[in-house]
Parts: sequence; C-alpha cells; structure tokens
Amino acid sequence: HLYNSLQELRGNIRVFCRIRPSFNMEGKSSIDYTGNDGSLIVIDPSNPQSTRKIFHFNKIFGPDATQDEVYKDTQTLIRSVMDGYNVCIFAYGQTGSGKTHTMCGPCSGLNKNFGVSYMALNDLFQISSARVDIKYEIQAQMVEIYNEQVRDLLKDMPAIKLEIKNCSVNGGLSVPDASTRSVQSVDDVLNLMKLGEKNRVFSSTALNNRSSRSHSVLTVHIIGEDITRCRIRSCLHLVDLAGSERVDKSEVTGDRLKEAQHINRSLSCLGDVIAALAQKNSHIPYRNSKLTQLLQNSLGGHAKVLMLAHVSPEADYYGETVSTLKFAQRVS
Ligand code: ADP
Ligand code: MG
Repeated sequence: HLYNSLQELRGNIRVFCRIRPSFNMEGKSSIDYTGNDGSLIVIDPSNPQSTRKIFHFNKIFGPDATQDEVYKDTQTLIRSVMDGYNVCIFAYGQTGSGKTHTMCGPCSGLNKNFGVSYMALNDLFQISSARVDIKYEIQAQMVEIYNEQVRDLLKDMPAIKLEIKNCSVNGGLSVPDASTRSVQSVDDVLNLMKLGEKNRVFSSTALNNRSSRSHSVLTVHIIGEDITRCRIRSCLHLVDLAGSERVDKSEVTGDRLKEAQHINRSLSCLGDVIAALAQKNSHIPYRNSKLTQLLQNSLGGHAKVLMLAHVSPEADYYGETVSTLKFAQRVS
C-alpha cells in the first residue's frame, strides 16, 4: 500500500502486468504468481535454486483474468479523457505474449471477446451521449511506425511517409496529414481497426510467422463544446507496440536486422521518456524516437499513462520475461 501511495506521488504513470495462459500445460512455468498483492516472482527454470526475482506493479492480471477484468481497471482513465485529460495506454511485451489480445481481442469477427480499444471507445460514445451539457465530436486516426517512419493505416496504400508536427499548432493533431475519420459509433471504429490491422506490416520471425514488427497507434481525438461554446480537447492513444524480444544478431540479417534495431531503439527511448517522467526530471528526451514524438502530448504534463506489460509464462521465455518485467519496473 505504501508502494501504491508512492505511485500516486510520482504522477500519472501506472503499470499493470498481464500473464497470458500457458500454451504448454505440462511444461514448467517460470512465473510464480500468487495473488493480489501486486507482486510477482520469477524463477530461472534452468537453475531453480538461484535467487528468485520479485517484481511489483500497480496490478497483476493472472492467466485467468478476463478481458472485462482488465478493462475494469482501465476504465477510470477512459473517463478522464472525457474530462479533458490526454491518455496513453500501451501494450508492451515480446511477440506472442498477448498484446494484441489485450488491445483488440481475438481478431475473428464472430468472437466478441473484445479488448481495451473496443471497450474504451464504447465507453467514450456512451459518456458522450449521456452528457447533455457538452456536445462531443470524436475523430480517429490510425498510424503505424515502422523503421522510424510513420504511415497511415487507414489508406489502402500507406506508402507516403507522414510527418510529426508540433501538436500545439495543429489543434492537437500530432500527425495532421494522417486520415482523420469522424466516428459516430463503436462499429465505425471497429471497421477502422480492421482496416488498420489489415494494412499493418507483418513479416515472419522465428517466434511467430505473423508477428508485428511495427508499433500501431490508434488515436482518438475528442472535442467537447459546452453551451458557452467553450471547447475542451483531449486525445487517447491506444498503442500496440512491436514485439520487444531481442534478436540474435547471428540469426537475422539485412531487413530483419534493421527492423529489430529500430524496434529496440524506439522501445528503449520510450522507456527513457517514461522513466524521466516518473523521476520528474527536467529534461524529457522525447525527440529521440518517432514513437515518443508522436505520443508526446499524452506523455507528461497532466497526461495519464498506463503501461500494460505482457509476459509469456512458459519456461522457455524466462529471459524475455525478466527483461519485460525489468523494463516495466523501471518506468513505474
Ligand atoms: P502479441 O500481440 O503480443 O504478439 P497475441 O495477442 O497475438 O500476442 O497473442 C498470442 C496468442 O495467444 C494468440 O493466439 C492469442 O489469442 C493468445 N492469447 C494471448 N493472450 C491471451 C489470453 N489472455 N487469453 C487467451 N488467449 C490469449
Ligand atoms: Mg500482436
């Protein structure tokens, strides 16, 4: 509890950890997750006698946690978007750890096990229609960052590289040239998300042959106007980051190596920015990557940040699990 109150003092950064169900029922798990105290123990499977590593987070979701449970703890952030706060929610973790599951849910249209993005939008529309005193307009953009280039995911041929602008001069749009679609219902957003996922860059890695090697960013802009014509503007970034796994330089070459280097660099820049914010440093190194430039208006200041760190429980992924948890603990 002391830890949680320290968190409050440190500002608006929260870190949750989600452990996905094991694919390997008989196999050993490297994670010992016992309960609700916000801590998690990882054991080196090749050397169970060695020191156990303990990590603390604001909240931990075990393998049985449902999409609804995860969303319930995210909901207050969504409400504050309607009150004018900028919010950034991102999913971090190695490929296959469940990032897209948390953010989007299973991609099949038949399965209604929706993720954070869908439920967040659903709430935004509900709140906006319930508020009679404020008229809201909701717009969406979806871009990806691939090899430090920003591309529009709502265009069928997202070839043009987009620029990130200083958001204060563009009415809050950090990528003013990306397609901006006015959305009236959650189904409108679902259609955009489907189009965006389709246009996202996929290539194969040893881990997952459809693994995403780009960061995808769904940005929702909210413009509220009250009867005195006073405007509030805020935005919500929903980010599904590229896989954080370190690649073995001896195994990949050429384009794959370049991709991996861009991903590693931008994720470590993101870590640096959030750690600097958590420590209330005077210099925040936003300019070091496209990702942090793009998210700048919803990192820092009065913005609220939620990192959803994802880990795979299988013993084989012990090394990646520890590195994800270290990354997450550093920023919290
Ligand atoms: P990532 O986006 O991090 O690469 P995915 O979200 O694609 O990972 O998850 C990998 C696989 O595990 C998918 O088949 C997904 O449906 C499944 N999965 C991930 N998290 C969960 C979960 N919490 N419950 C059930 N299945 C999950
Ligand atoms: Mg994914």
